[in-house]
Amino acid sequence: MRVVEEIVVDCPACAEPFALEADVDAEEQSHFVSCPICGRALEIFVRCKAGEVLSSSVSVD
Ligand SMILES: [Zn+2]
Repeated sequence: MRVVEEIVVDCPACAEPFALEADVDAEEQSHFVSCPICGRALEIFVRCKAGEVLSSSVSVD
């Protein structure tokens, strides 16, 4: 079963928060996305355990 949870992260380039879907079945995952506000390429690293998001961090690619 695939479980997706929405998380909100702050863009490090423009400081605006935006939402993204994380797959909480995966313990560690990276998402490569463009900020919907400023368009910068971002790498978002998410750690999950037992169906919950433990932490997330964002860096400018
Ligand atoms: Zn941004």
